[in-house]
Amino acid sequence: MIKNLHSGPRILMGPGPSNVSSQVLKEMAQPLIGHMDPQFIEMMDEVKDMVRHVFLTNNPLTFVIPGTGSAGMECAFVNLIEPGDQVLVCVNGAFGNRMCEIALRCDAKLKRLDVPWGQPVAPTQVANALQNFTPKIVAIVHAETSTGVLQPLEEISRIVHKAGALFLVDAVTSLGGCELKIDEWGIDICYSATQKCLSAPPGLSPISFSPAAESAINTRKSRIQSWYLDVSLIQKYWDGKKRAYHHTAPISMIYAIHRALKIVLEEGLETRINRHHNNYLSLKTGLEAMGFEYIIAHPYRLPVLNTIKIPDGLDDDKTRMRLLNEYNIEIGGGLGDFAGKIWRIGIMGESCSPDYIKALLSALKKILSQG
Ligand SMILES: *Cc1c(COP(=O)(O)O)cnc(C)c1O
Repeated sequence: MIKNLHSGPRILMGPGPSNVSSQVLKEMAQPLIGHMDPQFIEMMDEVKDMVRHVFLTNNPLTFVIPGTGSAGMECAFVNLIEPGDQVLVCVNGAFGNRMCEIALRCDAKLKRLDVPWGQPVAPTQVANALQNFTPKIVAIVHAETSTGVLQPLEEISRIVHKAGALFLVDAVTSLGGCELKIDEWGIDICYSATQKCLSAPPGLSPISFSPAAESAINTRKSRIQSWYLDVSLIQKYWDGKKRAYHHTAPISMIYAIHRALKIVLEEGLETRINRHHNNYLSLKTGLEAMGFEYIIAHPYRLPVLNTIKIPDGLDDDKTRMRLLNEYNIEIGGGLGDFAGKIWRIGIMGESCSPDYIKALLSALKKILSQG
C-alpha cells in the first residue's frame, strides 16, 4: 500500500516555500497546452512584462528560467564568468557562501569579502576590497535568508560601478516583499525565485540582465559551459516572434507564476511591501511581549524573515515539531553558524497575514506555558 501523504494544509512561516493562494493552485490545475501554442507564447510574453514590472527594470534580457533560486544564481554566474575572471563575493551568510561555490566552479579568480554572519556588508568594506582588485563582477545577497539581514545596496552599487565592475544581486527573498529597484539602483544581474515573497510553488527563477551585462555576455571569448542555462539560447526561446525551441517550458509552473505576478501587480508593489512591513511590526510586538529577542538590529532587519534567539532551556527541534504536528505551523531552524541558536520566521507573500501571525503567537504562547 502506498500511503497518501497529504496531512492537511500547513501554515508556512519558514524561510520558504511560502503559502500559495488557491487562485494560483487552480491555475496549475488547468489543462496543459503545448509550449509552442500561440496562446502559451502570449502568456510567456505577459510573464516577461510582469517580471520587468516587479523588478522595476526595462532590461530587454529578462525572463524566467526553469529551476529554483539556485538555478538563477548559477545562471547569473555561468553566463558572466569566463575562466580566470576576477570576482568579488560579499559573504555574510549561507547564500553568499553558495555564490562562492558557484564562482569557483566557473574557474573564477575569487576574492571573498567575509563579514560576520548577522552583519550587513558596509560600503567602506567593499571599497577597501576593491583597492587592489579589479573584478568583472561584485556579487552580494540583498536579503540573507540564513541570517535575516536586509542589505542596503545603493551606495555599494555606486562603488562597484566606479571600480568598473558589474553588480550582481541575489533577490530571492526580497522580490515582492521588500523594496527592490533594479534600474534605479544600478543592478546589472538580478535573480529571484517563485516560492518566497511571490508565493508560487518552487520551480522557476525570474532573472534580468542590464544592457552592460548583456554586452559582457556577448563579448565572451569562451563558450558558456552550461548549455541549459545559456541565456543567449534561452532568450531566443522567450522571443515571442522568432521563438526557437530550447527546452520545454514547465507549462503548469508558467501558469502559476503568471497568476502569482498578476496578484502582486494587482495588489501593487508599494501596498504589498507596506503590508509586509505592517505585519512584521505586529509579529515583532507579539514576539517581544513574550520575551523573544531579535538577533538583527534595526535598520538591517529583514521584515519578511524574522530571526530570533531560541530561549535558554527550550528544545529547538521538539518545539518546532510541536508547532508542526499540533498546530500545522512550520517555522525554520537556524543554518550554518546559527543552527540550534535561532529560529527563522517567514512572513512572505500569502503567508504574510494577521491571522497566521495570531495563530503562531498563540501556539507559541501555549507551548511556552507548558514548559
Ligand atoms: C532560498 C534562497 C536561495 C536558493 O533558492 P532555492 O530555491 O532554494 O534554490 C538563494 N538565495 C537566497 C537568498 C535564498 O533565500
